[in-house]
Amino acid sequence: MNTLAKEQSVDVDSREYVDALRHSCAHVMAQAVQELFPGTRITIGPAIENGFYYDFDGPHHFTEEDLPKIEKRMRQIAEGNHPFIGKEVTPEESRKFWEARGEKFKVELLDGIVARGEKVTHYSHDNYVDLCRGGHLQDTRGIRHFKLLSVAGAYWRGDEKNPMLQRIYGTAWPTKDQLDKHLKMLEEAKARDHRKLGPALDLFSIQELAGPGLIFWHPKGGLMRLIMEDWLRAEALARGYQMVYTPHIANVELWNTSGHRSFYKDNMFGEIEVEKGEYQLKPMNCPFHILIYQSRLRSYRELPLRLSELGTVYRYERSGVLHGLMRVRGFTQDDAHIFCTPDQIEGEVEGCIDFALHVFKTFGFERYQMEVSTWDPAKRSDYIGDEGDWGRAQAALESVLKRRGVPYKLCPGEAAFYGPKIDVKLIDAIGRSWQLSTVQFDFNLPRKFGMEYIAPDGSRKQPLMVHRALYGSIERFFGILIEHYAGHFPLWLSPVQVKILTLTEAQNDAALALESRLKAAGLRPAVDLRGEKIGAKIRDAQLEKTPYMVVLGPRDVASGTLAVRLRDGRQLSGVTESQFVSKLSQECAEKLTSPHWEQPQ
Ligand SMILES: [Zn+2]
Ligand SMILES: [Zn+2]
Repeated sequence: MNTLAKEQSVDVDSREYVDALRHSCAHVMAQAVQELFPGTRITIGPAIENGFYYDFDGPHHFTEEDLPKIEKRMRQIAEGNHPFIGKEVTPEESRKFWEARGEKFKVELLDGIVARGEKVTHYSHDNYVDLCRGGHLQDTRGIRHFKLLSVAGAYWRGDEKNPMLQRIYGTAWPTKDQLDKHLKMLEEAKARDHRKLGPALDLFSIQELAGPGLIFWHPKGGLMRLIMEDWLRAEALARGYQMVYTPHIANVELWNTSGHRSFYKDNMFGEIEVEKGEYQLKPMNCPFHILIYQSRLRSYRELPLRLSELGTVYRYERSGVLHGLMRVRGFTQDDAHIFCTPDQIEGEVEGCIDFALHVFKTFGFERYQMEVSTWDPAKRSDYIGDEGDWGRAQAALESVLKRRGVPYKLCPGEAAFYGPKIDVKLIDAIGRSWQLSTVQFDFNLPRKFGMEYIAPDGSRKQPLMVHRALYGSIERFFGILIEHYAGHFPLWLSPVQVKILTLTEAQNDAALALESRLKAAGLRPAVDLRGEKIGAKIRDAQLEKTPYMVVLGPRDVASGTLAVRLRDGRQLSGVTESQFVSKLSQECAEKLTSPHWEQPQ
């Protein structure tokens, strides 16, 4: 029996260190939980982004009230500065150990490790032992700045046929400063939660009767979606994309040909029988665009062919992972597929990146991260496609970003088996990153479908294929927008841009007349003619996060000027109607995220 070597040199900012810290924290939490709640069985406790969790099984029903007690015991354990000690054990020893403790989940994990022919290792600190492949701190000393956050249910191995476990989430950081910053961010995120703001602003809902993970866009959200779609469509057309529409279901033979019935099976809804044929809802649009390509023989002169669709897809996401607009079962992608020749690759990649950057800028995102995923050349046989194509595609992805001066992270070995890609992550107003756009090469589908074009020399060649989505999912992008702006959308996206508030009913006619003039000028006004006090009307308009309020009293009507309130509380008086209209029209046209206003002279 040999003790494993110490695992890491200490660079507290490295991903390895932070992951080791978080995972070590999960061990300490499991120890505390088992001490405080006897009879609790342990399962798995990985590091995740910004934190860690551990899934438990046992008689105690955990609530958030248990967390301070667990945290307190964790601090005591951590202060003991216990080393994490790993040792390799034989499968028999391990089985005996876990069986004696009644840890049936660990026994099941052990079976998996043995079946995969992997080494069996036990890691211990203080008096706690875990079955684990490693990745810990040297000792518990680094575990200082952590907090337990929440409790949730989670199925064993993520499978709803398995028992429901109890998951405790926590966060841990190398410094107090980082922890405080993260906790503050979580608080801000809570206040911006699109699952609360969306229904509160009457933008969308999820209806129990229809089922979870399915989004209902209400008139205000629907209008915003229309604006987003119209803008994108116009941009795509101007950039040489052609719009297509394709069905929502297809015969299983299509999904057999594409391979989705094998590699994507778990995320597809089941078969629907139609006249002895079987159909399935589409989880992706790609095969449909390929069928359009193949509807006739293509010449090199038609390439690049850029087919674009706002395509609605359906994916069977497990109920446990559904999350507002971010993770749903039906959503619309701004999907496009580009078919091109090898010498067109670089131009096409550049076009995609340029388009993506334009989207971010337009919607007010200033910060983003790019990741280029390439293959692992040592595992050549894991990938499909021609070596030259891989080389050209990977070089194009990098050279476009370099030429544009866009910083990126290179992720060797992270490419899918069918091609390299660029992923773009947005950074929102409170510093969170969101995976958004993807530019993904595909050397697999053209081969599976036997796609061809006639080359200049008359020979038949296989086109290259790029999948490209910018918003990604319109639902998810909308959720990100709600949280990024905390509902204070830029004027051009706001469903109601101006709320006209009357002081008394004597101003009703003037208000309605103003409303129709603003409408005629292309703005989106609404009137509040209720018999409420003006203070209540202003408060309600603020709750609706309306960008502009116009308060109409007898003097305003007499003077013919407007008293304008901005949603940040600024007030302007004596604004002429034509000044108001031209200012707002300009704000929309320039897609400003915050208005530039000065009190008119
Ligand atoms: Zn471990
Ligand atoms: Zn695709």
